[in-house]
Amino acid sequence: MKIARTVDQARRVRHSEDHRTGRLAEGLSWGFVPTMGFLHEAHLSLVRRAAEENDRVVVSLFVNPMQFNESSDFETYPRDEEKDLSLLRDAGVDLAFLPAVEEIYPPSFQTHVDVEGVSEGLEGAARPGHFRGVATVLTKLFHIVAPTRAYFGQKDAQQVAVTRQLVEDLAFGLEVVACPTLRESDGLAMSSRNVRLTAEDRRQAVVLYQALEAAAEAVAGGERDADRLRQRIEEHIATVPRARVDYISLADPRSLQELQGRVDLPALASLAVFFGDVRLIDNVELIDGGEPDGGEPDGAHTEPTVRRSVT
Ligand code: AMP
Repeated sequence: MKIARTVDQARRVRHSEDHRTGRLAEGLSWGFVPTMGFLHEAHLSLVRRAAEENDRVVVSLFVNPMQFNESSDFETYPRDEEKDLSLLRDAGVDLAFLPAVEEIYPPSFQTHVDVEGVSEGLEGAARPGHFRGVATVLTKLFHIVAPTRAYFGQKDAQQVAVTRQLVEDLAFGLEVVACPTLRESDGLAMSSRNVRLTAEDRRQAVVLYQALEAAAEAVAGGERDADRLRQRIEEHIATVPRARVDYISLADPRSLQELQGRVDLPALASLAVFFGDVRLIDNVELIDGGEPDGGEPDGAHTEPTVRRSVT
């Protein structure tokens, strides 16, 4: 596995591989998995998918300060570079890109990318500037890596929607691949932030998925009223004392516009909930006549069986 810490190094590896393999004409396909490190099984599931579908895989590890609206959240974000590199080596990754903050944002930096519309609700409303940071860093990373396909987790459903819009609007000429949410055996969506939960909060955090499942059950039972579905989720969250709701949303899965009145399916049920200062997000896609599509909680090493990505 090659390791690049500068833009030039990453570019050199990316392009010298094409020369080395003599694949200049038709080109090698490159799968790209952008991450903020502190890797867990869900990140590795994206890496495996990228490896299945491409000749080469590049993973970036960059805790992007521009997408954090709270500096304390940026500072306490967990990091373990050595372990991450060892996991990526074992997964057969070809290139790990670990730029320093100044490499991506030198003092002279003055360009930002704003995706409008789809970035404005949910996470965008709760975390001002978040998607500007995401879109800006992805634009830069896409230019450096020039991937054929880029892999994202459905756990961050709005990030997938914003990225699709960005790629389409600015004609990046790459395919955005959304991968299912991986969950712990009790249903909690895997997240680098989970390690910051106290033992008691970790026990209570399972309520996120249970609340989303309750909405799915209500839909399966014929409920279609947007307010009542949001209320169903809220009631579940309220059963655990430590949870503090940031938002609960029922939105169109493509535009992410909040739904009112009678809901047309599919719909995206999503939420953000604080436990202490740890903010967790989760979502499921509510579909007609079936199980919710939010990934199956059947353990760290098992792929969910139900999958359908929001496009
Ligand atoms: P992060 O390091 O949190 O920025 O995540 C990097 C990528 O992994 C993003 O595309 C996330 O959506 C994805 N990811 C994180 N957690 C999960 C999960 N539990 N299931 C599926 N994808 C995930």
